[in-house]
Amino acid sequence: MTRNQIIIAGAGPVGTFVAFCLAEQGIDVLVLESAEHCETDMRASTFHPPTLSYLDQLGLAKPLIAQGLKAPIFQYRIRSSEEVLEFNLGELSDRLEFPFRLQCEQYKFARMLAEKLEEHPHAEILFNHKVLEVSQNNVGTSVEVNTPDGIRTYKGSYLIGADGANSIVRRQLGIDFSGFTYKEKFLTLSTKESVENYFNDLAYVNYVSDPKDWFVLLKAPSAWRILVPIENNMKDADIVSNKNIHSVFQRVLGESKKVETIHRTIYRVHQRVVDKMMHQRILLIGDSAHLNNPLGGLGMNSGLHDAWNLSQKLGLIINHKHSKDLLGQFDRQRRAVMNDFIQRQTIKNKKMIEESGETNFQSQWDEMRIIQADKTKRKEYMLEQSMTNSLQREKDIE
Ligand SMILES: Cc1cc2nc3c(=O)[nH]c(=O)nc-3n(C[C@H](O)[C@H](O)[C@H](O)COP(=O)(O)OP(=O)(O)OC[C@H]3O[C@@H](n4cnc5c(N)ncnc54)[C@H](O)[C@@H]3O)c2cc1C
Repeated sequence: MTRNQIIIAGAGPVGTFVAFCLAEQGIDVLVLESAEHCETDMRASTFHPPTLSYLDQLGLAKPLIAQGLKAPIFQYRIRSSEEVLEFNLGELSDRLEFPFRLQCEQYKFARMLAEKLEEHPHAEILFNHKVLEVSQNNVGTSVEVNTPDGIRTYKGSYLIGADGANSIVRRQLGIDFSGFTYKEKFLTLSTKESVENYFNDLAYVNYVSDPKDWFVLLKAPSAWRILVPIENNMKDADIVSNKNIHSVFQRVLGESKKVETIHRTIYRVHQRVVDKMMHQRILLIGDSAHLNNPLGGLGMNSGLHDAWNLSQKLGLIINHKHSKDLLGQFDRQRRAVMNDFIQRQTIKNKKMIEESGETNFQSQWDEMRIIQADKTKRKEYMLEQSMTNSLQREKDIE
């Protein structure tokens, strides 16, 4: 049995980041990861400006930017008419330290942090360690773990569940994860094909609207990534079959051409938030606490914002003897951002990408045309979409 200051379940982007934030404050952390290394996870590829500002405070922005692509511009396009509404974060260079989205695969971030944790005097990271059971009392937490040497118990003063959508920590707490699951599946494809050659003036981040055949085109350093919805009744084997992939590329690129793929992955997508992120000495952050659709690239970013908020408060409690009530504030602040901004915005983004773009009294495209044409509205919209405003509002919550 070992006593560590803080135990973290999961070495995804959120678990490795919270561990690093704490270790840098001189707090001992133990990260337990079930996989044998940080998996080559191709889900998130966008880091928003305020996330980069947080990373910069720990010297992490520069090395990440060196591995990514700066994307100041994002576009909304209508598939049928080819209308394009463009937003340029460069217009906010007086407001944002990093006036661009960084396009970089999430696994590169988690691996960079895992390497730093391996060498950190206040951190230990154990792969092939699967959390099985968790419990707590007034003074600490206890975690039962399946390790290569059999079942072991680790004890800590706090436990952070950063173990993703199927979180065992959340399930062990037996708490509600309310919300809904979209009926369609989402297919992501990665390809080395020069997708930009099939469109005029394509940016690195593009959302293409259509009631049935909408799609997202994102450039990451290693590949173009294409996201499309797939009808629920199609079998997974058929979705990733060469026949279907060929038909997807034909619809997206407008040409019948055999395109090679590096990854083909199917996702079920949810909108869910836990009723509480703080359970005495057990805290939930990232996908273990909230899930949303990927339109806007807000999921991982909001998990990293949870990590930042929580690590600052734990630093005050452990190093400066502040009251544990601060954890209640973490819970209120982050759930307010999730419910009032992230959930609302991602649901809205999905509705817009499913529009035809025709003018009618309910059209979000009409609203977006007005926003895009007006400098003040355009800047305000970008502050909202880049998550800058939500973090500002978070600070106002007691
Ligand atoms: C198609 C798609 C595209 C996306 N694009 C974006 C984007 O551009 N920007 C964005 O911000 N977000 C995006 N997201 C969301 C983003 O991928 C997730 O929000 C993010 O991965 C959450 O990070 P996490 O560390 O909380 O969880 P995860 O990345 O799921 O990591 C959890 C870790 O915990 C480990 N684990 C699980 N169970 C246990 C256990 N019992 N014991 C020990 N370890 C365990 C897992 O192996 C894993 O390493 C996208 C999602 C999808 C589906």
